[in-house]
Amino acid sequence: MSITNRRTFMLQVVVGGSAIAATKAMAQAAPQVADTDANAVSLGYKSDASKVDAKKYPAHKATQHCGNCALFQGKATDAAGPCPLFPGKQVSSKGWCSAYQPKAA
Ligand code: SF4
Repeated sequence: MSITNRRTFMLQVVVGGSAIAATKAMAQAAPQVADTDANAVSLGYKSDASKVDAKKYPAHKATQHCGNCALFQGKATDAAGPCPLFPGKQVSSKGWCSAYQPKAA
């Protein structure tokens, strides 16, 4: 490997590593959806699924929460994670909204 190629390679490693670290930091730093956010209110989102309005959402079951929803993009063990319905924010894994879809078994 020539010196130029080595420099190019090292720059790519440093820049690539920084981009990955920045992406992870952004994901971790994303704020959580508040129950009072306009989008959350319209979807009936509650960060604590036990507080879902049972009269308004009678189909909600106690076993349903973001952590086992097909749209939840975090890991099953994550306390919060991204959901495409709330771009740039994270939903609580114990939350729920009316767009809930069970994960395929
Ligand atoms: S779509 Fe699923 S993961 Fe997203 S907020 Fe609603 S219940 Fe939670």
